[in-house]
Amino acid sequence: MPHLASPLHIVCVSTPVGALGSGLGGGVELTLANLVSVLQQQGQRVTVVAPAGSVLPGVELIQVAGVLQPIAQNQDRHAPITLPVGNVLSRMWQVVQAQPWDLAINLAYDWLPLYLTPFFDRPVLHLISMGSLLDYLDEVLAQVCATAPQRVAMHSRAQAMTFGETIAQQVTILGNGLDLRQYEFCPDPQPVLGWVGRIAPEKGLPDALAVARQTGYPLRIMGKIADPDYWQDICRQFPEAPHYYQGFLSTHELQKRLGSCLALLVTPHWVEAFGNVVMEALACGVPVLSYALGGPAELVRAGETGWLVPPGDVAGLAAAVAQVGQIDRRRCRQVAEQEFSLTAWGERVATWLRRNQSAAAGDA
Ligand code: UDP
Repeated sequence: MPHLASPLHIVCVSTPVGALGSGLGGGVELTLANLVSVLQQQGQRVTVVAPAGSVLPGVELIQVAGVLQPIAQNQDRHAPITLPVGNVLSRMWQVVQAQPWDLAINLAYDWLPLYLTPFFDRPVLHLISMGSLLDYLDEVLAQVCATAPQRVAMHSRAQAMTFGETIAQQVTILGNGLDLRQYEFCPDPQPVLGWVGRIAPEKGLPDALAVARQTGYPLRIMGKIADPDYWQDICRQFPEAPHYYQGFLSTHELQKRLGSCLALLVTPHWVEAFGNVVMEALACGVPVLSYALGGPAELVRAGETGWLVPPGDVAGLAAAVAQVGQIDRRRCRQVAEQEFSLTAWGERVATWLRRNQSAAAGDA
């Protein structure tokens, strides 16, 4: 793994929408844990700043009390910037400001950290976790990219394109990675389909329930009920849903129950930035059946690690279930090892950080 010029003290600033371990932060929680691992493997000293109640073993963790930020998906695109009284986001950045560090990496999808970028005399980098959702975020992101595009990284080309072609060409595409040792290959699946994610409208769970009905397979639903009213609506429409629901699981439990599924259904109703659940499924040897949209469309190799169908094509997904036997589960694990190992991801992260170090040296 490539090392940086000298060990750095890197502060990683978590999402302000939920404590680490709560599930409210979605994929950012796993991404942050894996980012910490790759940075530590590269010899960096890492400190994490996160909302109170966070759990992340093996790293210096500074917990900050305060009111959680509303999630971007629930806001109107044209809404003004929201910062509730006592918000944890600005408090986290006060803590960051008071710390000694060489480089900060922001994982919040929010206006404030982007706005603060030029006010620090040390590099503040941003790993953006979602596509374009809010006008004010697009505006401040464009401002950062206009002066320091090397500061911004995203997970997929499709995600970057939601911010427009200029930004997509400027930012670093990092993909994502995971600790493959935590995911066991399962060669012998059970006759059950899997669905993993936050239960919220943008994730399209009803489509997966419809596929389960059409194919006659039960569905294992794993994930945080992020929107309880929405879940109640689903349960009215699909009375079988509560029986399928497994809860919000630890990574260890998740990979066990996901690993023995015949296939993972990925049914986004938005441009998914990456889709951690895709790499987690492949790491267990589980083929992925997804809409050809966003990150999953870049991750799934049709006919090799799964199938892609047009967005919203539930019948197409059901037909793909019938073809899932053509996918070699060992090949899914192999592809995960090639593309999503912490070594592969760590190299891309190190290259991003080096680019920022040379830019900082150029500024000095
Ligand atoms: N997840 C989990 N336990 C569960 C279900 C999901 O820890 O029971 C995690 C999963 O590991 C993944 C995240 O939730 O990291 C979902 O991330 P993804 O990138 O797929 O979607 P996002 O929530 O970021 O939109």
